[in-house]
Amino acid sequence: MSREAYQVPSLGGGQQGQYTGATGIGDAAANEASVTYICGDCNSRVAMKRGDQIRCKECGHRVLYKERTKRMVQFQAR
Ligand SMILES: [Zn+2]
Repeated sequence: MSREAYQVPSLGGGQQGQYTGATGIGDAAANEASVTYICGDCNSRVAMKRGDQIRCKECGHRVLYKERTKRMVQFQAR
């Protein structure tokens, strides 16, 4: 009946929805989570989200260090 008719497309769409939904959630979480970097030039804190270009928003320097890690992680294209 209408219930079955609804379940069939819901199953196929549901699986696809789950897949894209999980990706959407991940993207949303990544968008919200921002990492603070320290500019290697002016030492100012730069909060950046994933996908953002590694670049100091104060001086435009492109060498930033992750604040959390004790180990200095350098982002620089050589
Ligand atoms: Zn800077």
